[in-house]
Amino acid sequence: MTRSPDCKPWCDNHLTKFENSCNTMIVIYDDGRQAEAPPTPGTMAALFRAGLPKAISWVAFVASQDEEDEKPIMDLQFFEAGDGAEQISNLHVDLDGLRTLHSSLADILREFS
Ligand SMILES: [Zn+2]
Repeated sequence: MTRSPDCKPWCDNHLTKFENSCNTMIVIYDDGRQAEAPPTPGTMAALFRAGLPKAISWVAFVASQDEEDEKPIMDLQFFEAGDGAEQISNLHVDLDGLRTLHSSLADILREFS
């Protein structure tokens, strides 16, 4: 964890190597699965898997802001299972988008609780 005196309150990873920026990454959901070895090429399992989208296992909220950014740049990043998994997809969201997402999920949870 690195911080500078001018850090944003949410910064827990201040980077100075290429740019002077505040950063954070928070895992907001993890289904707990471990990475699986890919199926052997040519097998039925490989054929079946080939047509399917990659399965997301964990989701992280990521924010960064440097001196030129008026507001933090925020994303929800989606990953396959495993700690070293590569990012599969990215949803860029601003604060209003996050509030809409939060509100929609709250409405759904009320219906399903
Ligand atoms: Zn910072």
